[in-house]
Amino acid sequence: MTEISVDVAIVGAGPAGSTLAALLAHRGYSVALIDRDTFPRDKLCGEFLSYDAMPIIDALGLRDELDAHVAPEISHCRIVGRHRNYEFDFPHPARGVSRMLLDDALFRRAVAAGAQAITGTASEVTRDSVTFDGGAVRARVVAGAWGRWGRFDQQLGRAFVRDRSHRNFGFKRHYRKAGGTSDGTIELYSFKRGYLGVNDVEGGITNICGLVHAGRLQGLKGRWDAFIETIRAEERPLDDLYARHTPAQEGFLSSEPVIFRSRSAVEEGIFMIGDASGVIDPLTGNGMAMALQSALVAAPFIAATLENGDRQHSEDAYRTRHAQLFGQRIGWSRRVAFLLSRPALLDNALRLHVPSAGPFFLRKTRADREVIARMVDAELEKQSVP
Ligand SMILES: Cc1cc2nc3c(=O)[nH]c(=O)nc-3n(C[C@H](O)[C@H](O)[C@H](O)COP(=O)(O)OP(=O)(O)OC[C@H]3O[C@@H](n4cnc5c(N)ncnc54)[C@H](O)[C@@H]3O)c2cc1C
Repeated sequence: MTEISVDVAIVGAGPAGSTLAALLAHRGYSVALIDRDTFPRDKLCGEFLSYDAMPIIDALGLRDELDAHVAPEISHCRIVGRHRNYEFDFPHPARGVSRMLLDDALFRRAVAAGAQAITGTASEVTRDSVTFDGGAVRARVVAGAWGRWGRFDQQLGRAFVRDRSHRNFGFKRHYRKAGGTSDGTIELYSFKRGYLGVNDVEGGITNICGLVHAGRLQGLKGRWDAFIETIRAEERPLDDLYARHTPAQEGFLSSEPVIFRSRSAVEEGIFMIGDASGVIDPLTGNGMAMALQSALVAAPFIAATLENGDRQHSEDAYRTRHAQLFGQRIGWSRRVAFLLSRPALLDNALRLHVPSAGPFFLRKTRADREVIARMVDAELEKQSVP
C-alpha cells in the first residue's frame, strides 16, 4: 500500500492534470499525479489542438516532439452545409495531434519535472486526501482533473450530474483517406442533433469525431456503425465523407456522457481544472487548450494557498479568474453548437455568407494568444526548478 504526503495531489493526468503537475513541480512543490490509466493511451477526442494552447506547449518544451511526429499544422476551417460551405483561416496554425501522443508527452513532461506518478483509480477525494485502489495520498492541496464526468461529481453532489435531459455522447474513429496527404483543414459537418469534426493527425491518419444528443441513440445499444449508416442516409455530405475514408482503427471510441451545465471551479476546497471545472462545446476544438490554460490559471492560486495558508481568499480569487477567462467562451460555444446541430438552419445561415462570422466565432470561443503568452511568462518567472 502506498501512503505518502505531498504538497499537491492531482487526480487525473489528462492535459489539465499533467500540465498543472509540471508547473507546480517546476515551482519546487512535491506533487503526486494520480491516474487510473497508464500512458500512452487513446481517448475520445477530435484531436484538434487549438492555437491558443501553443504558448503553453512551447513553455513545456513540447513543440519539438509534435514536430518530430509531424503532427500536421491546421490553418483553415471549412463548415460543410447541405448546399454550400463556409470557409475561414485561423490567425495562427493549430495542430492535429492524437491523444496517444499528446497526453503521453504531457504526462512524461510532468514526471520529468519531478511529479510522482501513481497509477490507480481514486475512490475518495477530499480537500486534503486522495484514496485510491493502491493506497492513499495526504496533501496540503488537492486538484480535481478527472475530466467531465467522474464518480466524485456524484460524491460532491454537483448539480449537473442529475441532468438527464441534456446528455450527449461522443464517438471517434481513425481513418485513412483516399488520396492521402494533409491539406491543413478542419471540416465541420452537421446532422440532426449532432455534428462531426474531421481533421488529420500524425501518421497519415484522419480523425472523424462527433457529438450527438442521447435522444438519437435510443435502441442502438452502442452500435456506432449503425448510427453512422443512419446519418449517412440523412445527409449527403456525410455519405460522401465516409465514402472517402477507410477505417484505420478496430472500432469506435466513445465515453461517459457530455453535459454542458455549468460547474464550480472550486468544490469543497478542491481546485478543479480542465473539464472538471467547465466543459466547452467540442465543436470549438478548444477543450484541450482550456485544460492547459486552466492549469496555468490555477497554479499561482494553489501556490498562494501553500505559501500563505489563506485558502478562502485563493479559492474565491481562482473562481473569479476562472469565470472571467472561460465563462463567456463556454456560453458562445453552445450558441454555435445549436446552429451546427440543425442542418437546415445551418444551411440558411450559410446562405447569408458573412465573412466576419468565422473570425468573430474564434474571438469569442478562445483565448487571446498574447494574454496566454503573458501568463506563461509570469509563470516561468516563478519556477525555481530548471
Ligand atoms: C466528442 C468530443 C470531441 C472533442 N474534440 C476536441 C478537440 O478536437 N479539441 C479539443 O481541444 N478538445 C476536444 N474535446 C474536449 C477534450 O477532450 C477535453 O476538453 C479534454 O480532454 C479535457 O482534459 P482534462 O485533462 O480536463 O480531462 P481528461 O482528458 O478527460 O482527463 C481526465 C483524466 O482523469 C483520469 N481519471 C478520471 N477518473 C479517475 C479516477 N477516479 N482515478 C484516477 N484517474 C481518473 C482519466 O483516466 C483521464 O486520464 C472533445 C470532447 C468530446 C466529448
